[in-house]
Amino acid sequence: MQHLFHKLIALDQNLLMVILIVLFYSIEQIFNRPFQLKNRSIHFLHGLPLQLGYMAVNYGLAFVLVAWVQWIKTHHFGILYQIHMPYPAKIILGFLAIDFTFYWAHRLYHTWSLPWRLHRVHHSDISVDSSTFFRFHPFDATMDNTTFMIASGIFGIDFNTLLLFFLVNLVFTIAQHSKFIFPHWTDSILGKVFMTPNLHKIHHHQNQFYTDSNYGLTFIIWDRIFGTYKYLPVYKIKYGLEEFDDIKKQTFWYLLISPFKNIHRIKKPKQSNMHIAIKNSNLEKIID
Ligand SMILES: [Zn+2]
Ligand SMILES: [Zn+2]
Repeated sequence: MQHLFHKLIALDQNLLMVILIVLFYSIEQIFNRPFQLKNRSIHFLHGLPLQLGYMAVNYGLAFVLVAWVQWIKTHHFGILYQIHMPYPAKIILGFLAIDFTFYWAHRLYHTWSLPWRLHRVHHSDISVDSSTFFRFHPFDATMDNTTFMIASGIFGIDFNTLLLFFLVNLVFTIAQHSKFIFPHWTDSILGKVFMTPNLHKIHHHQNQFYTDSNYGLTFIIWDRIFGTYKYLPVYKIKYGLEEFDDIKKQTFWYLLISPFKNIHRIKKPKQSNMHIAIKNSNLEKIID
């Protein structure tokens, strides 16, 4: 078991990323109609340089994160270093602790104006597919690395746990954005605990009522506990952000400079108000 774990975390994650993207992208192309290779290729090529920028910034910051985690290990800093328990239990708790920290960080990305300017690049995608995995602003890497450092400092996370978290989330993040619609049982069974692809797609709905929900990365349990869990069938989701609807705002260059632009968020009515609005419009039709 230990041998398997070490083999798992030693995997080349860049190679795995390429394999998964090729696999999911091909499945989407085969099973989804109409055949949209040209449009999908343009979409892919606008997202790819963003990911290359993200990886470049991420590699730079990796040195800081590695030094920080090494210092934590040397000084036995953080909660998990203070508690005696079997190592596998520490890994599981450490994994949960990182995901828990990311849940709160992700809520802040949606609440605070400055992180939202970066994070909205990911949400701006009007045609979500596996290559939406690419669509993160390069400076988004600074927020993600800060979150990893905070989680490591508070909870005492080691390298192995971080590597396992990177690996699992690589698979999850690509699958979560796949155009392939996963069967309902994935939500009704796995969705009790995990952030399934359908549940994450709700987070990409253009209506802010749904955008500000389902914040977890690996687990949905944090959303269920802290009241941000929402459900909607995938076919009802309209992807993107209204303020990025124009096709000219879907290009690599626009997305790269968009955090430095004052773009006001177009807010939709809350779900309860939407129901009232729909009821009123029906009433008006009856009166007419
Ligand atoms: Zn988000
Ligand atoms: Zn996403």
